[in-house]
Amino acid sequence: MPESGKNSKYVFILGSVLSGLGKGIVTVSIGKNLEARGLSVQVIKIDPYLNLDAGTMNPTEHGECFVTEDGGELDVDFGHYERFLGIQVSKHQNITTGQVYNSVIQKERRGDYLGQTVQVVPHVIDEILRRIEDRAENNPADVYLIEVGGTIGDIESFPFLEALRQMQRNHPAVDVCTVLLTYVPFPKHLQEHKTKPAQHSVRELRASGIFPNMIVCRSDVPVPQKALSKIANFCDVPEEAVYDLPDLENVLYAPRKLDSQGLGDYVCQALNLPEVEPDWSALDKLLQENLEKLSGKVVIGVPGKYTTLLDSYISVNEALKHAGWSQGVEVELIHIDTETIERDEDSIHQLDHVDGILVPGGFGDRGTEGKIRSIRYAREKGIPFLGICLGFQLAIVEYARSVLGKPDAHSTEINQSTSYPIIDILPEQKQITDKGGTMRLGAYDVTLLPGTIIAELYGTLEIKERHRHRYEVNPDLISDFSSSGLTFTGFWNELAESMEVKGHPFFMGTQFHPEFKSTPWKPSPPYVGLIAACKARKYGN
Ligand code: GLN
Repeated sequence: MPESGKNSKYVFILGSVLSGLGKGIVTVSIGKNLEARGLSVQVIKIDPYLNLDAGTMNPTEHGECFVTEDGGELDVDFGHYERFLGIQVSKHQNITTGQVYNSVIQKERRGDYLGQTVQVVPHVIDEILRRIEDRAENNPADVYLIEVGGTIGDIESFPFLEALRQMQRNHPAVDVCTVLLTYVPFPKHLQEHKTKPAQHSVRELRASGIFPNMIVCRSDVPVPQKALSKIANFCDVPEEAVYDLPDLENVLYAPRKLDSQGLGDYVCQALNLPEVEPDWSALDKLLQENLEKLSGKVVIGVPGKYTTLLDSYISVNEALKHAGWSQGVEVELIHIDTETIERDEDSIHQLDHVDGILVPGGFGDRGTEGKIRSIRYAREKGIPFLGICLGFQLAIVEYARSVLGKPDAHSTEINQSTSYPIIDILPEQKQITDKGGTMRLGAYDVTLLPGTIIAELYGTLEIKERHRHRYEVNPDLISDFSSSGLTFTGFWNELAESMEVKGHPFFMGTQFHPEFKSTPWKPSPPYVGLIAACKARKYGN
């Protein structure tokens, strides 16, 4: 591992033509190729928006907010990096336009630039470069992958492209390399691949003084060599540096798909890194022994309010898949709109067709009574259930109402005048008025109770999981549950972190979000517990 960021190599990944092509997948695929060659990899994501982080964005527009160990509320792509590369990222690995301008303006006020006119060039660009090099210095890796959000030609990306141009100019050519992701359409009426969008995007990029070293072509239909050669010729990159990445059954096939066309060796050559035979055994084992051998399927109903954008719960969806692979079953998700359950009593019977129910995290009151009804249904009908964060809190509300005889029980987030505030805001949270970055965020130690299902699933009593919430189980009311069937099974200081209900096949809730640490190679224990219970209920043990 290099001793300082000065020795790091950088690979920039840029996107063109249209958004949503899967720059994150290309980034992790390049990372996997480097890892398979024994190199250490870290990732920086540049987001050219003015938000300081993704914490205040709407999940239906921007996808889920991914929480890091150090409490960062970041873009969904960070989830891909951690899951596939098996690394832990820090919140400082996300650079947004908002952060950059924020520090330039603070420095200006402090007098750091006394006498100068503060400008995009050089001050903003210098701040971007400082942030990149500072990261590489503090968390060294052989190669830093830098994914630049947005698409070539976006007004807001210009300062970042200029920073890349300067990096290319100031570093030896073998230290910085650029990969452009482009789209090669296949119009049905023409029945041939069109390379013009790729050519135009390279021209646009060159206008910023950047010459891509490699081009990855996304396509719906595999691109023939003839079209790839044409792109190489017109875009002035070597033929062996243009790759095709068609739609794949599973993104886990992408790293090898690109390697089979020579991408892994080419990146190493471009960066003057030793060329070694890649070791794909861990990935191949997962694909051949788990993914390709699934038999049977469990269906998980997810009652929630963000049913329109799949990415809103992406870490939950991924964690369910990982758990399915570990149990040898496919997992199908059905998103259930809780507002429909509130309007129409009978629609609860949608849940008769699922093998398990997962109520994910959430904020605000919309659809909560529908969630509570779904939870009650799961508990009464013996349907395996996992509640995460808000799902955990509402499961406790439901239990207090139905079993402890507290019909008015609620969370004060939803009903401030409830007579039984079983979920309440922490005193230290009451003073806070700013919404961004002020929740209980990131990893906390949780101590589990011996003899519980959760302790058995984790195989240890001391765990560390990630949080993103403001409300907690009210410590003053916890003792009301002591002789009931609901046990609080994990704690951080006096705060309840998990619970389970006895006499049910599987009824568990966690205040933390275990999905953020799930990987295909290390599925999250509560998710494994849920899927194993669904499988047992459906197919027997
Ligand atoms: N809204 C709840 C809270 O702030 C739950 C948050 C969540 O589910 N992430 O405590």
